[in-house]
Amino acid sequence: MKINCILCGHNFDLNDTYDDYEGEVKCWVCGGVLDIKVQVGKLKSLKYVKTPYPVSEETRTAQEQTEIV
Ligand SMILES: [Zn+2]
Repeated sequence: MKINCILCGHNFDLNDTYDDYEGEVKCWVCGGVLDIKVQVGKLKSLKYVKTPYPVSEETRTAQEQTEIV
């Protein structure tokens, strides 16, 4: 399963361990911490909990639009 870091745009490749997962993952590219919720291999929500740099208004808006149904 792939998730997209909303902070740096890097695509993560998560293994099967994350097919049912709710919690934090750290982006090893930008160092930001993302809070993800995955059910049956599908990403339900993704938001950042910690950013390695001040977040711009643009990124904040992107987060609001990242809610996946
Ligand atoms: Zn990142």
